[in-house]
Amino acid sequence: MGEVRLTILGSGSAGNAAFIESDHTRVLVDCGLSASQIRLRLAGIGRSPDRLDAILITHEHSDHIAGLKTLAGKLNIPVYCNRQTGEEIKHITEARLDFRFFETGASFEVGEIGVETYSVPHDTNDPVGYLLHTPAGRIGFLTDLGHTNRMLAHRLREVNVLSLETNHDVKMLQDDPHRPWALKQRILGRHGHLSNVAATEFAQQIMHADLRQIYCAHLSSECNTPALARDTLRTGLDQIGASHVNLTVATQSEPCPTYFLRIELPLKNCDSAAISKIPVANAIAAR
Ligand SMILES: [Zn+2]
Ligand SMILES: [Zn+2]
Repeated sequence: MGEVRLTILGSGSAGNAAFIESDHTRVLVDCGLSASQIRLRLAGIGRSPDRLDAILITHEHSDHIAGLKTLAGKLNIPVYCNRQTGEEIKHITEARLDFRFFETGASFEVGEIGVETYSVPHDTNDPVGYLLHTPAGRIGFLTDLGHTNRMLAHRLREVNVLSLETNHDVKMLQDDPHRPWALKQRILGRHGHLSNVAATEFAQQIMHADLRQIYCAHLSSECNTPALARDTLRTGLDQIGASHVNLTVATQSEPCPTYFLRIELPLKNCDSAAISKIPVANAIAAR
């Protein structure tokens, strides 16, 4: 009871999707792998897309919606996004989907998961991030943004598990001989993607004892390496004494091991002072 499972099915500039499952509710955040890949990767953890209660879409870039038309269309899964994103998806895919529009900044419920939405600075019409209030803790999604701000730090200040964009190493990007200057400017810009260093600074800003797990997400295949992303974040977190945080680099090619969040029940006969010190959620690393 009270266990929630998170599986990052894939992450990167060629496709993003994450599966969150509580006892009674199953959702996908983004649907940017092909429908067949999502089916295959869910099958790998003994799950199927047939029983999804919702697909939450952050924005309409293809690496977040590539499998949406097939998956949501065939299975008639409700698609949650804001109206501007929905209009773009309709335009791009010509799909007739069961859209459930929300206002950016609004909160709503999907089964037993509360969903908080917030604006992120990225180069689409109305991109968002999500904070999921699950029965076992809070899971945040923060990718595809050029910079962070105080509103985002405030929204994510109590997150227990965070998928955080560590898109590029600034020097690797600047030195990349294959990318045109304009594209580099886009990625480095205020509405582009978050660097390893910027992500580290944000993680330091929101750090607290119950933030247990961070995924390094949406890595550039050419302007970053898993080791560089992880080491930058690890060093930054160790500097502020946050060695309790487990780091996992999410990849494009395969799902991350499933992560289990569980509510740590207080011991019997605890006094109230002791109970208040017990973490709200105790996330347990992949088993
Ligand atoms: Zn993306
Ligand atoms: Zn994007």
